[in-house]
Amino acid sequence: MCLNQDLQDLRIYRIMVFDLLSESRFARFKRVKIKNLLFIIFLILFTAVFSPQVLAEEKAPHWSYGGAANPTKWSQISTEFAMCELGRDQSPINIDDAVQGTPINIEFNYKPTPLSVVNNGHTVQVNYKSGSTININGEKYELLQFHFHTPSEHTISGKASALELHLVHRNGKGQLAVVGVMMAKGTTNPLIEQIWKHIPAAGKNNIVQNSTISAANLLPKNKAYFSYTGSLTTPPCSESVKWNVLAEPIQVSEEQIEAFQNLYQVNARPVQPINGRRIEFHG
Ligand SMILES: [Zn+2]
Repeated sequence: MCLNQDLQDLRIYRIMVFDLLSESRFARFKRVKIKNLLFIIFLILFTAVFSPQVLAEEKAPHWSYGGAANPTKWSQISTEFAMCELGRDQSPINIDDAVQGTPINIEFNYKPTPLSVVNNGHTVQVNYKSGSTININGEKYELLQFHFHTPSEHTISGKASALELHLVHRNGKGQLAVVGVMMAKGTTNPLIEQIWKHIPAAGKNNIVQNSTISAANLLPKNKAYFSYTGSLTTPPCSESVKWNVLAEPIQVSEEQIEAFQNLYQVNARPVQPINGRRIEFHG
């Protein structure tokens, strides 16, 4: 009896401990579940408020080439875009009345780069890996990226080309130098074909495997060029940009022009006042 009683006590004790354990486990489970739920809610809210898209929009307010956010309205979109209206050295310009400058003094040192095509909603851009440079009067600038506009942003003696290529460079001091290349209707351009084939959807970047390109293949034979001091042709329209527009165009086929214009019918800022700036011809 005594033994039986002990055994019975032990059994009851075990059941009590088990119950206690299960209760605490359940309570803990409930606590963890609530904690997880709160964490998930926090994550959702955090992602919604601080998503890259929202941050990007906050950093770069919406601007465009047509509609309510067209180039004449850029300065009203954000205080950061004030230069688009107030700037006196804006780009692009109509290139005319150039004075003879020094002979050609741009040295191109473009190397092949893995093909990386971005469709950023304003243009098609090819990003360049470091190591490709231009040298203007002994000043070295590194090629960062190149992109396209249609029709050409610069005009030469009032005449626009079908497209214009902008090769964007920066030196060690953070100063920008852009080389502009006119693209006229002619024969098919193999490098443009390779780039156009890999244009991703808007907002996407396409890093193409086993495909390299060289910007050297987008330059005309004759490197004579016009130079002047201007600005970015897109918001925030920052000035002190060293512009170098090559006089000789490269050729692209009608199909290639149409293919770009199917994506971007017009993505060119109209020409801006010269305001007495000096345009030099280097030939
Ligand atoms: Zn551009």
